[in-house]
Amino acid sequence: MRKIPFLIFAFILFLALAIQAAPSCSYCGKTIDGRYVKFEDGSIYCIDCIQTKIKCSFCNKPSKSTITIDDKPICRQCLTRLEHCSFCDKPLVGKYESFPDLKLNICLKCSQAVSRCDFCGKPDNKLIRADKRRICRSCYNQSDFCHTCRTPIEGEYLWFDGDESKKYCQRCVNHYTKCASCGAPSGGNSQRLEDHRVLCQDCYRAGYFDPGQIGLIKRKILAFLDSYFGMNLKHKIRYSLQGQDFIKNKSDAIGGDLNGLFYRENDKFEIYVLYGLREKDLYQVISHEIAHAWASENCRANLTLEEAEGFAQWVAYYSLIQFGYSNFGETLVDGDNVYARGLRMMLEIEKNGGHKAIFRSLAK
Ligand SMILES: [Zn+2]
Ligand SMILES: [Zn+2]
Ligand SMILES: [Zn+2]
Ligand SMILES: [Zn+2]
Ligand SMILES: [Zn+2]
Ligand SMILES: [Zn+2]
Ligand SMILES: [Zn+2]
Repeated sequence: MRKIPFLIFAFILFLALAIQAAPSCSYCGKTIDGRYVKFEDGSIYCIDCIQTKIKCSFCNKPSKSTITIDDKPICRQCLTRLEHCSFCDKPLVGKYESFPDLKLNICLKCSQAVSRCDFCGKPDNKLIRADKRRICRSCYNQSDFCHTCRTPIEGEYLWFDGDESKKYCQRCVNHYTKCASCGAPSGGNSQRLEDHRVLCQDCYRAGYFDPGQIGLIKRKILAFLDSYFGMNLKHKIRYSLQGQDFIKNKSDAIGGDLNGLFYRENDKFEIYVLYGLREKDLYQVISHEIAHAWASENCRANLTLEEAEGFAQWVAYYSLIQFGYSNFGETLVDGDNVYARGLRMMLEIEKNGGHKAIFRSLAK
């Protein structure tokens, strides 16, 4: 029991003697017989050198050759360990700004002078100019570009009409009139139509302005409705392209569909289609209006607005899927208007009883 404490004591004594045996000052080389300072790395300095020699302001050791930067003496060893400013290459002695992820260190002087990326704030003197902003290469490479202003989009992008391949920046959305067809910012090359609608360049180019162009679409829809739902019309329909004002005037206050209108006067059936629509709008609006025409022959006269518009949208929904526009078709389901509510109601009926349940619920 007593032997162990004695052994430890003897070992400590031996160590103390060994250290005291021959310490010499790392600066002046003299053997130290008085007080000294020992540093973490084991180096020892006599108290005289500590008190009188120039000391490195980083490691605090007396040093024979120091370099002075910003009024601070630095020993050569510390100098090699110091970070350097990524811009002016000066060793960084005082406070400095650091971006560890980017391996960037900047002295305060450069920090104030250098330009910064408008997106990430990173200092960079090779920024790319885009519109009125300056952007670093990495932000530029990672960016989505606005379809309207063609510049990198900062933060979240917006998209319209179910088409996420065309991205838009918030600034363009705020700045430009909405395109009457796709809802996106119409941009600098927009077109104003005779009836005052504004279309973006893409929608204008894709627009149908010639009545002859809709003949094929309407025939394809009629054939599809016949084969898929067994819907046949007894009356012949006259189709024409019209402006917005004409369609608004013809529609009664309740049931006006902005892109088209089914108009019946006894045995005279007319479908008015807004001019300048895109192909997918035409598939939607023509099948919707044909459904109204069919309903006027086959359904009870007391359909609610929701039933009438819901049925027409339901027919349009399937036409869009049939003709390759299912993404657009899905956009009809969302929203809080009579069309979307009616369509959701029809899809619900269909879920329980199939197509037939819908036709039954509307029958005379
Ligand atoms: Zn000394
Ligand atoms: Zn030092
Ligand atoms: Zn600098
Ligand atoms: Zn950046
Ligand atoms: Zn933009
Ligand atoms: Zn558009
Ligand atoms: Zn309708």
